Amino acid sequence: MLPDEAAARRELLRFVRRGAREGVLRGTFGNVSVRIGAHLLITPTASDYLRLRAGDFARVRLDGQVEDGNPSSELGLHLAIYRSMAQVEAVWHDHAAYGVAAALLTDAVPIFTGEGHGLIGIDLPVARYRPAGSQELAQEAAELMVTRRASACLLRNHGLCATGRNLMEAYSCAIAADEAAQHFLLTRGLEPAALPQEEKERIRRDFTGYHMH
Ligand SMILES: [Zn+2]
Repeated sequence: MLPDEAAARRELLRFVRRGAREGVLRGTFGNVSVRIGAHLLITPTASDYLRLRAGDFARVRLDGQVEDGNPSSELGLHLAIYRSMAQVEAVWHDHAAYGVAAALLTDAVPIFTGEGHGLIGIDLPVARYRPAGSQELAQEAAELMVTRRASACLLRNHGLCATGRNLMEAYSCAIAADEAAQHFLLTRGLEPAALPQEEKERIRRDFTGYHMH
């Protein structure tokens, strides 16, 4: 056990259960992780989210060495994100239906709300299709978020990934990303009133994050 590991396991369990209850994690799809220094805790492969226990999460070093448990098949995606985005402390991946639909129609989903700009960025980029669980997918998604300075991205023909400075923020970011996709689908072909560019940038710059409580 690492220092802080027991508390991190409890927090991760709380958010995974919440995600399942709120319909964000459905079936056994998706995976969630939290960083503890040079390690991460991640949901096990093929999780039944409502039955998980705190001891079921896998502990993996950021260099990829599995120390305990049976990590999700998307472990590589989580590792690539932590390695390339130093500020990220939690990663959320799910198969959000609006996110998947919007990713089929565009390379960048516009954002129309302040919380969306704060949590995600100026827009929500779409990563090209790469096979689930592949190193190519991990690389594609991590590089896209870094170059577009976004905290989330859609994964074409698959789902989304979202990040945060804690689990609350990563979870909120995932919901904001699916909502942005829904707003885009509802207003597609119309003339939606996006915020002015300076206002988008101001909100993103001034966003101080969500705090755990
Ligand atoms: Zn997936």
